[in-house]
Amino acid sequence: MAEVDQAPENGQRPCLLCGTLDDPTVEHIVPQALWKRFGLDPDHDDLARFRTDLCYQHNQATSALHQRPQMLDLIEKGTPVTKKTLQHLGDWAIWVTLLLSLARGSGVLGADASRKMLRGRFDKDSGGGTPKGFRVYAAGIDDTAEAAETDIKPYVLALRGDSRVLLRDDKPIGFSVQVGPINASEAIRLGKIALLVLGPTHESGDDHQARLDKAAAQVGLERIWPLNDALPALGPTQISMANVSRLFTVMPIGADHSLMPKVLQEMHARET
Ligand SMILES: [Zn+2]
Repeated sequence: MAEVDQAPENGQRPCLLCGTLDDPTVEHIVPQALWKRFGLDPDHDDLARFRTDLCYQHNQATSALHQRPQMLDLIEKGTPVTKKTLQHLGDWAIWVTLLLSLARGSGVLGADASRKMLRGRFDKDSGGGTPKGFRVYAAGIDDTAEAAETDIKPYVLALRGDSRVLLRDDKPIGFSVQVGPINASEAIRLGKIALLVLGPTHESGDDHQARLDKAAAQVGLERIWPLNDALPALGPTQISMANVSRLFTVMPIGADHSLMPKVLQEMHARET
């Protein structure tokens, strides 16, 4: 038998979701139709990090996410901003984040939690909806200038599903120092849209969600998931993706603790 001395190419590895080697296919994660609108070759080496391997069945299941032409218009051109396109974009951004996280081995949730959510949605006859607790923020990008990088203090968050957050009766009681591969959020810029997908968090108080939105507004983002009745405008905004990507963190050092559960804030105050 011949020795395999190279990592197998895409399409020859086990399905990321179920592990089967049957019917391997390349999953583009970001739809090929979108890359083509930008004049890019979806199979180019530079885009390899946006590709992964799925079995035929799981590829078919996820492909429905990409068949949303008006959502692709919104990404490409910044319009139309409608209830439908925003809901499609928010839902899509969550699944893309989970797939990218799993494909890279790092992300807003650990591999097991990401895989469980993805299989809950894309396994045959599963029919699970968009996972609860995620928030998606977006901005329309003004290409004429990039916002200045500011020294925003990142907000540390206690993420649900992060093994570093110690729980009793589902309430945070402590924080362990072990390092984990988890980020609080995933920032993506595609076309005319900046996206920030935030994992489910433990609450810091009554107005926790509103304060998350306020933090996101500091870097020019509006919430698109869950969607309010009053739609965000997503007008062209000067955005710094550097600011967007470091707004939320799971690392307590040097961060703003006001969005952490009260008990963890008090522990932190005693330690410093
Ligand atoms: Zn599969």
